[in-house]
Amino acid sequence: MARQAFQVVPLGGVGEVGKNSTVIRYGGDMLLVDAGVMFPAEEMYGVDLVIPDFTYVRQNMGSLRAILLTHAHEDHIGAVPYVLHSMGRKVPIYGSALTLGILNAKLKEFGVTKLADLRPVDSGQVYRFGKLEVEFVPVSHSVPDSRSIVISSPMGTIIMTGDFKFDQTPVAGAPTDIGRLREIGERGVLALLSDCVRVERPGRTPSEQVVSETLERVIREAPGRVILTTFASNITRFEQVIRIANTLGRKVAVIGKSVADNVKVAQELGYLRPPAGAIVSTRETRGLPLNQVLLLAAGSQGEPTSALARMAVGDHPQIKIVRGDTVVVSATPVPGNEETVTKTIDNLFRRGAVVLYRDTVSNVHVSGHASRDELKEMILLVRPKFCIPLHGEYRHMVLYQALASETGIPPERVVLSEIGDVVEVTAELARKKGRVPSGSVLVDGLTLGVTQALLRERGRLAEDGVLVAALAVDRETGRIVGGPDLLSRGFVCPNEADILKRGRAQILRALTRQLRGEAEYGFIVAKVKEVLSKFIYEQTRQQPLILPVVTEV
Ligand SMILES: [Zn+2]
Ligand SMILES: [Zn+2]
Repeated sequence: MARQAFQVVPLGGVGEVGKNSTVIRYGGDMLLVDAGVMFPAEEMYGVDLVIPDFTYVRQNMGSLRAILLTHAHEDHIGAVPYVLHSMGRKVPIYGSALTLGILNAKLKEFGVTKLADLRPVDSGQVYRFGKLEVEFVPVSHSVPDSRSIVISSPMGTIIMTGDFKFDQTPVAGAPTDIGRLREIGERGVLALLSDCVRVERPGRTPSEQVVSETLERVIREAPGRVILTTFASNITRFEQVIRIANTLGRKVAVIGKSVADNVKVAQELGYLRPPAGAIVSTRETRGLPLNQVLLLAAGSQGEPTSALARMAVGDHPQIKIVRGDTVVVSATPVPGNEETVTKTIDNLFRRGAVVLYRDTVSNVHVSGHASRDELKEMILLVRPKFCIPLHGEYRHMVLYQALASETGIPPERVVLSEIGDVVEVTAELARKKGRVPSGSVLVDGLTLGVTQALLRERGRLAEDGVLVAALAVDRETGRIVGGPDLLSRGFVCPNEADILKRGRAQILRALTRQLRGEAEYGFIVAKVKEVLSKFIYEQTRQQPLILPVVTEV
């Protein structure tokens, strides 16, 4: 009989923050925990999203029993539509009611609801997948209804914390079920797969309660209209804001599709229970004094097409920022978005608003992730034999390894993995053993798999523009009968007219020297590219994209 072992295969979310996806395998039973997206880096021109390469999951489709989801954030569920689409078959998806509700809206948008088999889970219930048993344990995070996932095999138990903190006054949703985690710990836990992204922060992450107090104060003190923005998935924050606004006699209007969609789902599922009349339409706010209005707006990341960014540049069809407005940014920029966020804040100030954000008001937002003391508390609670940090950059994982040794888990029992590593966990040992196909897939609109070559091309277009060289060649004699005409877009240099004129001459000289009676299309194209790019580089130190257009007549 083959030796029994768990295989933990991170397909994303290690050595990076984003696109969390982990395969857990035991014999012939495989589970995919989360399938998240990541937002593209600046130099990925035109790329909308980055998702994990799910080739390994596709290759082992026969073993895939289910997709399990920890919570409703994009970096955990955003790639589910792509997984379903690429497999082209129904897969049962387990998660809390809110997680599945938010996922379902996404599946509709993608038109893949037919492939979805959504199964809401209950706490305390055990779900069987072949030889595996799974339990979902409530944890607090910045979206309600988040879960840790406990996976047991005949050999032992693995706990995946998912994103968590120990917030015992979480405002919306349940607090972390410490009692249940302790019970599971007492039964014996083989491996803890833990969130580690906030390991650099000492102490504990403040409770959502602290945010409520801050928001209540700033909304009370605001002289006029309040415009508040937060992550579109932050249902906890919506709940807080609507309740506070209602107590302070302000009506709330929701502006922006992403926030409106999630408010709707959360209301339908009973996660958001606004008092009657607390939420009104934008139109209904018009007749009200400004100090009785609060707008809950999309755009906490400064996304250029979002409601807040459009207000900031005076381009929103319904809302004009006026002096006396207070804008509250109850979020932190996701790495990579800092610049668009600060630009939006600048523009709002420019229009006369007072903007309150994390650098000027403390606790206007708190993280949903555990700080050091909480990460330690989790280890002490479940007392695992091995740890595998997930959900962090490499430095976070190394720091987590050091933190674990403070709780008595020696470094050799903490496995630092990279995307695609197979980490084998047995009763005695946890170690890396082999690799699977893995990586990133870049998504542009409806196209999956934007290549590095394409990105390089876009990079050159963005940086140095394009030069089109059009010429007509006699099919019989190979003689140039028209052009070359040079046309540039996005390209600039001193004496451009002169440079282009000399460029034309270079092409003519090279072609007339080499074309003896035969005009081979590919040859001409290659020659034009070669001669022109060399000449332009020598003259200008620039590398515009050269696009030869050769017509045979
Ligand atoms: Zn999260
Ligand atoms: Zn996350």
